[in-house]
Amino acid sequence: MVADLIEETVVQLLRDAVTTLPPDVIEALQYAESCETSEVARSQLRTILDNVDAAGRLSVPVCQDTGVHVFYVTGPVDASIEESICMGVARATEEIPLRPNVVHPLTRENSGTNVAIGLPHVIYYPTGDEFLEITVLPKGAGSENMTSLAMLPPSDGINGIKQFILDTVVEAGGRPCPPTIVGVGIGGTSELAVSMAKEALLRPLGLPNLDPELTILENNLTEAINLTGIGPMGLGGDTTVLGVRICTAYCHTASLPVAVNLQCWAARRATARIYSDGRVRFGRSPFDP
Ligand code: SF4
Repeated sequence: MVADLIEETVVQLLRDAVTTLPPDVIEALQYAESCETSEVARSQLRTILDNVDAAGRLSVPVCQDTGVHVFYVTGPVDASIEESICMGVARATEEIPLRPNVVHPLTRENSGTNVAIGLPHVIYYPTGDEFLEITVLPKGAGSENMTSLAMLPPSDGINGIKQFILDTVVEAGGRPCPPTIVGVGIGGTSELAVSMAKEALLRPLGLPNLDPELTILENNLTEAINLTGIGPMGLGGDTTVLGVRICTAYCHTASLPVAVNLQCWAARRATARIYSDGRVRFGRSPFDP
């Protein structure tokens, strides 16, 4: 793959991701606004939608926190791809512009480019495909800071899992800028559960889980969380979450890891497929590039 083409694609991906929301997220926010019984909640959702509309028209970010950037890369991966992604992030930071959010964890010195050791975080899934697929998930701190992991005793079972997810959302309250999308990773090892919880956010709203049992669990959790009444921006209402997305993996017989990653209303994501002949197709998730 040509390095310049990857870099250019990453700049466009970030521009798409931060200035417009995926259609499924906008539709879910519109639907929530039409169903809300609380006037305050309706007005919060209307303000969010007006803000998203203005951002798209003016080509500016939908939120001032343009996040830190997680990339998922599939296809014929090689070591040079990460360098092109970093170049693209640095350029996007200057050109769009993105807020420079990346600092040293101890000195708090800002890299100025959103690129430094460890960030952007690039996760590779090598495949035999002829195209390279790159997905970006910008993640703001307000929702990322609510990430939670529990290593439950296996005897806690499904009820323990549900309770932990519910407790995490209730404890977070208005801080992750609800309505959120709740990403859940169940099983694996501790780090895999946390990684799955974030990756679960890539599946568009309205697209059911491949496992019908998990679709039922996702719907039940969505209903239960919305009964908490936390509401848009934590100001009360019927819409605390737009959906729950679950990924699972097998785990140790003595373990039951469960991780939750909350995504704020600014549920940004974008995907591109780069073909060997130089064509690039853009979409909003790995499910529709
Ligand atoms: S949590 Fe999301 S909507 Fe709230 S400030 Fe951060 S990026 Fe923006």
